[in-house]
Amino acid sequence: MEHLTLHEGCRVKLDDWDPDDTGKDFDKNSALTELDTLHQQMADLQEVFYASGKYALLIVLQAMDAGGKDGTVSHVMRGLNPAGCAVTPFKVPSAEELSHDFLWRIHKAVPARGQIGIFNRSHYEDVLVVRVMQLAPEKIWRARFEQINSFEKNLAQNNVIILKFFLHISHTEQTERLRARLEDPTKNWKITPSDLEMRTKWSDYQKAYEEVLECCTTEYAPWTIVPANKKWYRNLVVAAKIVKTLKSLDLHFPPPAPGLEKIRIE
Ligand code: ADP
Repeated sequence: MEHLTLHEGCRVKLDDWDPDDTGKDFDKNSALTELDTLHQQMADLQEVFYASGKYALLIVLQAMDAGGKDGTVSHVMRGLNPAGCAVTPFKVPSAEELSHDFLWRIHKAVPARGQIGIFNRSHYEDVLVVRVMQLAPEKIWRARFEQINSFEKNLAQNNVIILKFFLHISHTEQTERLRARLEDPTKNWKITPSDLEMRTKWSDYQKAYEEVLECCTTEYAPWTIVPANKKWYRNLVVAAKIVKTLKSLDLHFPPPAPGLEKIRIE
């Protein structure tokens, strides 16, 4: 699955990335079994990650509407201890948030060392919805690519590991999912008229995403394009990337407190 993670300087045409891709190593059943294994590994790794307190892990989830951000949060993160993990959704900025620079609300939500933070939407909205819906002039949003890279570099240099996932669905899949939300009363709450307006801007969003993926993939904060039409494969890709990243860190339990070796509990 390594090929799904981009490299700095890459060019991206989303049409070349198949949202139906499910790799060649798994079918749905074997993927579900593998996901169980990954959950167990994630739980064990999270414990030493927390105990060592050396790094923070920031997971950024971006997608078109109905792209599966909420599903990814609940399925993939099932393996994590909630005590060491926080999910932050980013909605339309409040008046207070708008009176600050766009990274103000983001920086406040960055996880502390030992913690895992998941962003459901993120600072990338400020170069996506803001661009497509013309909420700010190009001069403003375009400068943000560099500002975002500097911000993420600062985090990375301060031991924040950054993983960014673009959940890539097809237009047809989005249609199906939005229709299900419209037809199923238990899913109505997930859809608003503005989702349907966004839908008419599909190609503008795809173009905006391509530029984000190209301009904001760095060695310290790479994007992974997750084929997300099949939820089981989406979950597998995200979980596997998190586990691989945690494994690659030099994590150790801290040494025992001085004098601990002399203590006996009768
Ligand atoms: P979600 O779709 O993530 O489940 P909502 O339906 O509440 O949650 O949608 C959140 C909305 O907030 C989206 O339409 C998104 O584009 C918008 N949003 C997030 N960040 C910004 C931003 N910086 N500027 C303008 N709109 C934003």
